[in-house]
Amino acid sequence: MEFFASPDQPDPQFESFLEDACKELSNWFATTNSRAPLPLVKKLPNAFPGKEGLPCSKLLADVRLLMEGSYQPSHPGALAHLDPPPITASIVGELIAAGLNNNLLAEELSPSVTKIERTLCKWFTKKLGMPETGGGVTASGGSLANLMALLVARSKANLQCNQKAFVLVSSEAHVSISRAISVMGLPPDAVCNIPTDHNGCLSLPLLKEEYINQKSQDKTCFAVIATAGTTIRGAIDPLCEISDFCKQEGLWFHIDAAIGGVFALSSSTSKFVDGISMANSVVVNPQKILGISKTSSLLLVSQIDDLYNCFSTGFPYIEPSSGKDFQGGEIGLQGTRSAEILKLWLGLRQLGQDGIRLLLEESIMRRQYFYEKLDSHKFNIISGPFHLIAFSPKYIDSAEAKMWSIATKERLLKSNFMLSRPTYKTTWFLKAVMGNPHTKFSHLDFLADAINKSI
Ligand SMILES: *Cc1c(COP(=O)(O)O)cnc(C)c1O
Repeated sequence: MEFFASPDQPDPQFESFLEDACKELSNWFATTNSRAPLPLVKKLPNAFPGKEGLPCSKLLADVRLLMEGSYQPSHPGALAHLDPPPITASIVGELIAAGLNNNLLAEELSPSVTKIERTLCKWFTKKLGMPETGGGVTASGGSLANLMALLVARSKANLQCNQKAFVLVSSEAHVSISRAISVMGLPPDAVCNIPTDHNGCLSLPLLKEEYINQKSQDKTCFAVIATAGTTIRGAIDPLCEISDFCKQEGLWFHIDAAIGGVFALSSSTSKFVDGISMANSVVVNPQKILGISKTSSLLLVSQIDDLYNCFSTGFPYIEPSSGKDFQGGEIGLQGTRSAEILKLWLGLRQLGQDGIRLLLEESIMRRQYFYEKLDSHKFNIISGPFHLIAFSPKYIDSAEAKMWSIATKERLLKSNFMLSRPTYKTTWFLKAVMGNPHTKFSHLDFLADAINKSI
């Protein structure tokens, strides 16, 4: 068996391996409904290489075994997390990216793909309403993108070595914020968690109060972080008001829009994230709702120079880029990066503006439909304008809610519906994410009925 595709002629072995792999994948999709969203892992293939290499047929048999134990995002009952099924063009983008094996570190290792990445990031900043000076870079996930944004904010404020530097953020922000602060060598109390209101949104008066309180202790703020779409209920912090506050105080305004950012791409949903244009930095995760296969995350900034000034170290061993644009490896933390932008580029091109709008609107419609079906006399339902919804029985204590959440989740799994079980403000919830296009209203009828009968 040849390990590398022939550089001289069409390679029948290469083609048939890819075709057979494609058939396996297609068959996995086609048999989705005969499996559960979360299958039991009965048998695993060998993890390590034997002395002799294996032929394609054996490799694919192992892949089949692996697939049997894989989480199935395209199952209509897969509603637990922000992990939708991938759209076809993004799968092709992943395959081509692997084949090209270009490196976004530098233009000489990825001449065309680097340009696509720059142009597409620019397009995103434009859609978000950010200034002409803006741009961005892909990152392997929103956690890394958030870390990079905070590094840039801190370096802009010249507080790299200052242990009294802090950020202001909602108490419902994603865990990646406190992790980033810890990676940055700051003490835990450098994250000032601002309480949220009854809608799960950061409270502006309390933000201002805490800012003054921290300053009175000789501390210096280097960023205010708003969340556009919290992970449990999809709440959106008051972006315009926070932006005004940041302008007034001369503070960096970062928006973690890992969930909400893509809603800015469609004119029918962009109103939800009004104010996003005012951010100094924004994190957007197309992997979370648009069906771009993992990972697909972007860090967008209002001044591309800020990324360069924070991360560039010089590249003694790399040719400079052709124009005035920065090398990929000089505007982020990562060195070698895959051509993952291809998934996003091809995926968005396949969807078109109409497809993007449809995915977003239908996700919201499913959430609205489900909301209406849930018995609001029995449940405390929390949900913002996006496609996330969580609920917990009224009139029971936290211990009872925990038991209810475990028992109900298990019962639903037996009917092939997978929800998640977050804790939120001292009690237990079940959460559904309606980003799965295979979930029909009939599924939601069944699901709501089962939940309404659970208590
Ligand atoms: C998922 C998420 C992140 C982290 O993104 P990863 O790609 O999982 O690292 C950050 N912020 C919010 C609001 C998220 O929902």
